[in-house]
Amino acid sequence: MRLRNIKGSDERILADKYTIQTDGREGAEFKGKWNSDFFGNEHPIHMEIGMGKGQFITTLAGQNPDINYIGIEKYSSVLIRAIDKRESLALENLLFLRMDAENITEYFDRGEVARIYLNFSDPWPKDRHAKRRLTSVPFLNRYDRILDENGIVQFKTDNRTLFDFSLEQLDEAGWQKDFVSYHLHENGPAPDNIMTEYEEKFYNLGNPICKLVAHR
Ligand code: SAM
Repeated sequence: MRLRNIKGSDERILADKYTIQTDGREGAEFKGKWNSDFFGNEHPIHMEIGMGKGQFITTLAGQNPDINYIGIEKYSSVLIRAIDKRESLALENLLFLRMDAENITEYFDRGEVARIYLNFSDPWPKDRHAKRRLTSVPFLNRYDRILDENGIVQFKTDNRTLFDFSLEQLDEAGWQKDFVSYHLHENGPAPDNIMTEYEEKFYNLGNPICKLVAHR
């Protein structure tokens, strides 16, 4: 998702106390110290990569004050919508990073993250772009480095081709699957599930939503 550039979004992102743009490696000084130096507590860190407009992670952060949430998004034009949501809720446990997740190991230390959410990640349908998919082996290897020993990845998508690819990649990387569903909302909206913006759209269109949870 890349929205039309919104005038002033870079300035607003710069001024926002709970958003870090990683250009010029800003933010890397927190590597291994996000809890002590940024959040000021020892709560577990849960992260959403490619959070888009932030409905999912903002809702979770409001429900779980004892978890530190970090939302990662590549584009300012999308991130600004998440900042709007968070501002109205004054959440202290939610940080946004504007960055390409390819660089995630430069910003997070071994074992620093307890959970990674991937929701409706871009499918990158061309074979030559497979390594850019957020569930490809190169990305799983990055997650392996930053997750703690009980860490999990949770992935949702309506794209069956991407889902099947992701299951194969988990096998190839030696991960274990804890949960797999090809139709999460078969009997109406699944309980204890927070819908993302994309999930709402595809659910309303009647597309089956796939979900997996996995650990190493
Ligand atoms: N998760 C949201 C949802 O379910 O509504 C947004 C889904 S949207 C299809 C995918 C988002 O991931 C886009 O906002 C895109 O900019 C972001 N994204 C894709 N690749 C990324 C990467 N390598 N690093 C950070 N964000 C990325």
